[in-house]
Amino acid sequence: MGLPEGLRATEVSATDWRTPAELDDYRTTPDYTTTVEYLERIASAYPGTVCIENFGKTGEGRDLKIVVASKDGHFDPETIRASGRAILLVQNSIHAGEMDGKDACLALLRDIVQNPERGKLLENVVLVFIPVYNIDGHERRSAYSRINQNGPSLSGWRANATNLNLNRDYMKADAPETRAFLRMFHRWMPDFFVDNHVTDGADFQYDVTFALDVTPDVFPATAKWLRDFVSPELVRRVNATGHLAFPGPIFLNDDTDPSQGLAFHDNPPRFSTGLMILENRPGLLVELHMLKNYKTRVTGDYEVLRALLEVMNQDSAALIALNREADRAAAALGSEPARRVPFPLCLERSGETAQVQFRGFEFARGPSEISGATSIRYNPKPWNATLTADSGAKVAISVTLPAGYIIPPQWAHVIEVLEAHEVILKRTSGAWTGKVERYRCSGMQWPGKPFEGRYPILRGGNVERKIGEFGKCTLSTDTLTFLAGSAVVPLNQRLSKVAIHWLEPEAPDSALRWGFFDPIFEQKESGEAYVLEQLAREEMVKSPSLRAEFEHRVQTDSHFAEDPNARLEFFYRRSPWGLANRVGEYPVGRLMSLDGLPVR
Ligand SMILES: [Zn+2]
Repeated sequence: MGLPEGLRATEVSATDWRTPAELDDYRTTPDYTTTVEYLERIASAYPGTVCIENFGKTGEGRDLKIVVASKDGHFDPETIRASGRAILLVQNSIHAGEMDGKDACLALLRDIVQNPERGKLLENVVLVFIPVYNIDGHERRSAYSRINQNGPSLSGWRANATNLNLNRDYMKADAPETRAFLRMFHRWMPDFFVDNHVTDGADFQYDVTFALDVTPDVFPATAKWLRDFVSPELVRRVNATGHLAFPGPIFLNDDTDPSQGLAFHDNPPRFSTGLMILENRPGLLVELHMLKNYKTRVTGDYEVLRALLEVMNQDSAALIALNREADRAAAALGSEPARRVPFPLCLERSGETAQVQFRGFEFARGPSEISGATSIRYNPKPWNATLTADSGAKVAISVTLPAGYIIPPQWAHVIEVLEAHEVILKRTSGAWTGKVERYRCSGMQWPGKPFEGRYPILRGGNVERKIGEFGKCTLSTDTLTFLAGSAVVPLNQRLSKVAIHWLEPEAPDSALRWGFFDPIFEQKESGEAYVLEQLAREEMVKSPSLRAEFEHRVQTDSHFAEDPNARLEFFYRRSPWGLANRVGEYPVGRLMSLDGLPVR
């Protein structure tokens, strides 16, 4: 018989160290108070190994916490780095209906302090974990949070207290949780990051799936280490425990037909592991399978974390060196000759494929009178198939880089996001006039409903659409004046990629895409019809070619011909009055050199 939900650790005997989930045979997961009580019980029993720290507050005012496990009782990141040990940061419950990682980390911590064999996992590595990241969502407990998921009985909500999905917020940093995460992350500067989730999507035999970024925008030596060493080792070590792991996120080309194979999935920086690419750190996305029971999922997560700790212990020095090199390469991006190499902003499937052995379940397809479309029903019998999987990514959008950017001071909320990311920037002490490259953008489109509390410029499903498909941003060189207090963002810094992804308009999570520059697309002055009539007549007399262009448009574009305002606007937009609106002039300058700027 299970113990009642919400059982406090102090109510069980002092020698019983089962986690709250274990005590209840994984029927339930503890609330935040019970979770923290269990962690504090471990920390007070093992003060020389475990310490708990607050790193900020959620929107509803709860304390965000990290738990640090360090073999020698040093809990200061500077001291730990000086000792040559690598730091692993594990994040749990960003989607608080998916709290498997929390219960796995409780058990792993307990085993590390009590089982000498597990204690070896701290030999060359310090484990830092966030027991619950989206605490406000976690405390919105219900039996109806996750219709796709097989237990536990109550679980938290996907989004935070303002209904933002924190795993879309890493670049724009709207949420207090994201702001706190960035400060904590930079204080600890982990060598490896894990984000624990539970899948949505297809049914298959694997209980543990994971994704390691090995795409062309990751530091190549790190990508090679992840692909050739870490990934196969995780599969081997997890499978040796009786779980079944698949080394990739499983996205089907056709949701109703697994035989159509596995699809490519991009990882832009709105996601935690996408941000890791910009932070020059390896990231592991773990997805436990939603239909496996809670015990299977939690213990599966335990094994993949244990396996990763073993791998990190084995290769800690190499990992630390790779990260140092990746930081150095990022800090060189704004210098010659790195600037001449196109920098990737967005990836897409390359068309390369590989055959993979896939362990799915049998399925039947047929017409559905409910949806009116083809539906799939899975049977519990194994279906082992060879599938075609997208195996390569290519660069979809790239830019050549400047030496840095300059942002006028009035775009304070754009600058402020860079400050939240702790990107190094300097303010100009006086006005500066000089040559910069800058974009003019036109043809933008906005969605009809909000996405993550904003109206980002055109995005389609999981794969980003290029701005070039609906509008364009073209670069020109102009001499411009930037007033005192402008923010200069040099690219000769570790976080150069954060600045690039925020300030290049076509990047998938740029400030422009997220709507931070929307006012530049608004025309603030216009002409009265009877004034424009006069303007149009005068301009046609002055310019026969303009007249010809207008008449051609009237003849060939019926929408235009039937719209009196558009016909008058044709003349206004081309006039000095129209151009004075500066519609679509992107105010950020691309600096060709950092020399001669009056920065303080
Ligand atoms: Zn998730």
